[in-house]
Amino acid sequence: MIDDSGPKVVQTVCGLNDYFRCGLSIELANGEINRVRPYDYPDPADRGVCAKGLAVAGLVNSPERLQYPLRRAGERGSGQWERISWDEALDDIAAGMLSLSGKYGPTSVAWASPVLPSLNGGGYSRIISLMGASWVDWWGCGDAAGPCADITTFGTMMGEGYLSRVPHPKLSLIWGYNPAVTVYHYMKKIDQARKQGCRVVTIDPRYSETAARADQHVYIRPGTDTALALGMMNVIIQEGLQDEGFIRNSTIGPLLVRDDNGSLLRESDVSGKVGQGFMVYDSLAGQVSSAQQAGTLPALRGRFSLEGLACRPAYDLLVEVVQEYTPDLVAGITGIEERTVRDLAVSYASEKPAAIYRGWGIQRTFYGDLASRAVNALAAITGNMYLNRPAGFVLNSAPFLFPAGQRTRLPLLALCDAAVKGEPFPVKGLWCSGHNLINQMPNANRIMNELLPNLELFVVSDLFMTVTAQYADYVLPAASFLESTDLCMGSFQNTYLQLQRKVVEPLHESKSDFQIACALGRKLGLGQYFNKSEEEYMIDLLASDHPSMAGVNLDRLRQGPVMATMDEKPPQLRTMTGRVEFYSETLREFGQELPRYIEPVESARTEKAKRYPLSLISAHPGNRIHSTLAKVPKMAERDPEAMIDINEADARERNISNGDVVSVYNDLGRVVLRARISAEIMPGVVNVLEGWWPEHYVEGHINQLTHDLVNPVQQRVMQANSAFFDVLVQVEKAPK
Ligand code: SF4
Repeated sequence: MIDDSGPKVVQTVCGLNDYFRCGLSIELANGEINRVRPYDYPDPADRGVCAKGLAVAGLVNSPERLQYPLRRAGERGSGQWERISWDEALDDIAAGMLSLSGKYGPTSVAWASPVLPSLNGGGYSRIISLMGASWVDWWGCGDAAGPCADITTFGTMMGEGYLSRVPHPKLSLIWGYNPAVTVYHYMKKIDQARKQGCRVVTIDPRYSETAARADQHVYIRPGTDTALALGMMNVIIQEGLQDEGFIRNSTIGPLLVRDDNGSLLRESDVSGKVGQGFMVYDSLAGQVSSAQQAGTLPALRGRFSLEGLACRPAYDLLVEVVQEYTPDLVAGITGIEERTVRDLAVSYASEKPAAIYRGWGIQRTFYGDLASRAVNALAAITGNMYLNRPAGFVLNSAPFLFPAGQRTRLPLLALCDAAVKGEPFPVKGLWCSGHNLINQMPNANRIMNELLPNLELFVVSDLFMTVTAQYADYVLPAASFLESTDLCMGSFQNTYLQLQRKVVEPLHESKSDFQIACALGRKLGLGQYFNKSEEEYMIDLLASDHPSMAGVNLDRLRQGPVMATMDEKPPQLRTMTGRVEFYSETLREFGQELPRYIEPVESARTEKAKRYPLSLISAHPGNRIHSTLAKVPKMAERDPEAMIDINEADARERNISNGDVVSVYNDLGRVVLRARISAEIMPGVVNVLEGWWPEHYVEGHINQLTHDLVNPVQQRVMQANSAFFDVLVQVEKAPK
């Protein structure tokens, strides 16, 4: 057994949902959490805890915690509940699930729950796999477009680190990102680099907390980042500042693309050859040759012909697109001065190495994948890339997460159609844990009016009575991460594998998500898959024969975190060519084989903008992670009420004073909240921090204004993203 008793200080890991997984030292007094400190990692660079992590005692001890299981006793959302036992709740739920599964098929029971190689993330995954149920893939809730771009460019979902991890940058562009309040460890790195002489430039429609710590801030019209990146490439190529060595050796740039069908030229296109290797034009030999051929100098520009097939290097095609985006044109699109576009471009290409922190903000527009691809291409043509991946661990995850094979996946933005139209398959039961779905999904009116009435069973496990829980049939009290044991693998910054120790016993009748999954699994007749102890399942997860796990076991983890070691040879990119692909032959059918600028769907330059002239964005808050921590007193005190930030000029035009109650509306709905007049947001743009609960508004909720339009290209690559930052609204003073 893991020894959870006795110590005055317990080492554990922050399990809040930003996945950095900072080590915590929790001091206990009389069995209660007294103080939270950063864990003393050997390397000081790894130490540190953000304000949210320091406030976690308030999460555990909040008087508003759910205490026992509840069953709905009136209409959904009426607030009428009856207290029931765990046994009764899980008996009912299991019977309901089995009935739905029999009537509509197993995938009709969907799970909006994390799937992580850990106990609490993996317990539900076991049930999904064993039942043949479906899993709601939540990346589309605002985080799918950047990964779509990275899958296209790098063959992997989280490639933005290739742009930011360049060692010892002389220049850092913080683009559509506000790490000063959202990503503690990135900001620490940025501040340290700045102390060592790195120039920091922020690009954002808001003068954010990060901008206040930068050397220069550039305001940009929301949704126009693609144009800026293309304009910067235009200047760089005009000035001859591109890194031809990097383009030639590490990108798709020299590979020949056929004029007739946009596909890469392959060996099999040459008569008498069968291979699928790619071809280049060797300037030394004056002929087409294999890209694998040693001693060649592949051409980056020009038109070539092979056996009647006309071809051009992919880089030549990029240059052609980029030529359209002159600084003058880009200034008109983005609202950035022409001179600034030129200066940014020249600096980024010549103050090397230069980093880009490519934020989640730029990918929350309808064409956010194109914006992220354009920024990736900008980094690629300047060689400002660090293609080593951070070290990590490979656990023995598959048998634990998917004991009966992989799950059926349902993209988040397909959930409504599944419930209402039965497409791509019917969904009639939904289990939600680790998600405040109704609060966080776009087009909230559609969720309320279409999704919910079509669900026959809706279960929520949570710490609090969120708006999602309010509309459930059963609400189950979940334990916090400080009340449960688990394995934690860091991501983004830290590369430790760590033991998340239970710090205090679960309060009230709460259970950890793993305990809930085990109990439910048994009720579903899957007892033989849930018959081990937590410790035994962790031992199973650690029993991996991958070299990264050599010498790592539970006893070793009890002694402290284990840091991953870098592979000696960096792994090759997982793209088709093994190179950075700014050109995509598979996206040619959409006319998006190269990044191009397309006006936002809700552009302030459309007819619609005559009625709704302001662009709404919903930046991330500093005192919550999405909607979590709203019930933690220390955090809630700092942000007690939803506000809309509006520029002084826009406010004046509408006769709005600071603190006035205003109405914000568009064709989808209307929200009432207080205004905060700000010189820090650009004219024409308004911001409501995401994650507020409905109770924080005077009336309504911001996601009654956001749309759920599906981008087919993103759908093809991975899944469509919610374009939370691509929304037009009007604001007016609310009648008294
Ligand atoms: S940075 Fe993330 S993981 Fe670290 S303490 Fe803050 S919320 Fe927790």
